[in-house]
Amino acid sequence: MDYEVERVLIDRRTISQKVLELASEVGECYSGKEFVAIGILKGAIFFMADLVRFLPPDSRVKIDFMAVSSYGASTKSSGIVKIVKDLDTDIKGRDILLVEDILDTGLTLSYLQELLRGRAPRSLRTCVLLDKPDRRRVNVNVDFKGFSIPDEFVVGYGLDYSGFWRNLPDIHVAKAIETPAKKTQPKE
Ligand code: 5GP
Repeated sequence: MDYEVERVLIDRRTISQKVLELASEVGECYSGKEFVAIGILKGAIFFMADLVRFLPPDSRVKIDFMAVSSYGASTKSSGIVKIVKDLDTDIKGRDILLVEDILDTGLTLSYLQELLRGRAPRSLRTCVLLDKPDRRRVNVNVDFKGFSIPDEFVVGYGLDYSGFWRNLPDIHVAKAIETPAKKTQPKE
């Protein structure tokens, strides 16, 4: 099964406006407080970069990243999350904002929230750009949310299929296409 990029679901201006709104909510929430924004690589890379740049200039924010593997080259959640790169920061006693690209089944975020809570931060909040509520399998608490989207596979603005299309400035729907079956060579 292969995928091709189809229509734009959320264009770059709409994304930008929403990230600005989220940044102002986040900025208000942490006003006067130091916090660490933790971006989940690689999908949240552009969202995280824009979100922290749109924060009020007097925000006391530090950034760190974690890399997890979820789907591999497929588009189905396995529920198995592997930490590929851990944090450089000791989050014990600190205010933490977890920043993720998309909430789908919820398995990845609930795993990460549990893992980070185990490290005894003072507070843990979560910010996601996209939410596919129809696909939820576990309950996940999210404090800041961008867009609810239908159950479609999306790429762009950091989201990939098999490593590609993260660079697209808009968020697109990607559709499965039939790949021609390999012909078997007739025996001589
Ligand atoms: P969950 O564990 O909530 O099912 O999945 C979260 C992860 O699955 C996201 O971080 C993302 O990597 C991937 N994912 C879920 N839905 C999509 C989608 O529509 N497009 C892409 N590119 N990745 C998705």
